Amino acid sequence: MSYTYRDRGIVLRSYDYGDGHRIIAVYTLKNGKLKASAKGSRKIKSRFGSMLEPFSENEFILYRKPSVDIYTITGCFSIKTNESLREDMFRYGYAALMAEGLDIVSAEEDADEKLFWMLQESLEDVTEKSAPASAWLFLFRLLKYAGYRLNMFSCVSCGKKPSAKTVFSPAEGGIGCADCFFAEKEGFPVSLKTLDAVRTISPEKEIEKDVQKEIGKILAKFVKYQFNRDFKSFQFLDLFSGEKNKCTFNS
Ligand SMILES: [Zn+2]
Repeated sequence: MSYTYRDRGIVLRSYDYGDGHRIIAVYTLKNGKLKASAKGSRKIKSRFGSMLEPFSENEFILYRKPSVDIYTITGCFSIKTNESLREDMFRYGYAALMAEGLDIVSAEEDADEKLFWMLQESLEDVTEKSAPASAWLFLFRLLKYAGYRLNMFSCVSCGKKPSAKTVFSPAEGGIGCADCFFAEKEGFPVSLKTLDAVRTISPEKEIEKDVQKEIGKILAKFVKYQFNRDFKSFQFLDLFSGEKNKCTFNS
């Protein structure tokens, strides 16, 4: 006995597997994140076109046998191709960062409709507005939904306003003042300029490169601390090109 599902989903990742399989990770409206496979790679192009490419939004018909953790795609109807994202490496890099963040933070088949619509809206923002600001905002909101609201407003320990000596602590999930020093909690300095940018972040506002680097470091260190995962897509970003060894901020 098998089960058939119809669900709307946005492709997060796509790769070839073995002989003649294409596997996708997709975030769906009703079933959350799941993996699905299409068989017959030679026919895939003609049958599915670009619908299995990252950031395509489609209506999928899927079936799954009990005890098998991967779905099979039996039908696919395009809702939005998001093709322009795949033609612009700069925007693609930030969209990939969002998809990776969602992949890290969400559990398989833990559906959250709010997250689905947030992803859809943020992909539109990455395409049309400031790609970096849209992606960073998505990641902060994603963490908030997952129960990790980063406190960037005042010292998480004593409530003091930020100063030039403020540090961010991944362990505390927020900033700390010099008096409640967080260095022993993997704290590192963050500038007032960056804190201000994070507090007022919006897809309509461009973010300076040095501020972006600090925001990237805050998110990468926090995700590493909480989920023990590195962001691979940092290496695609123009922001960190030529700094491959620093992409994951392990130092
Ligand atoms: Zn303090």
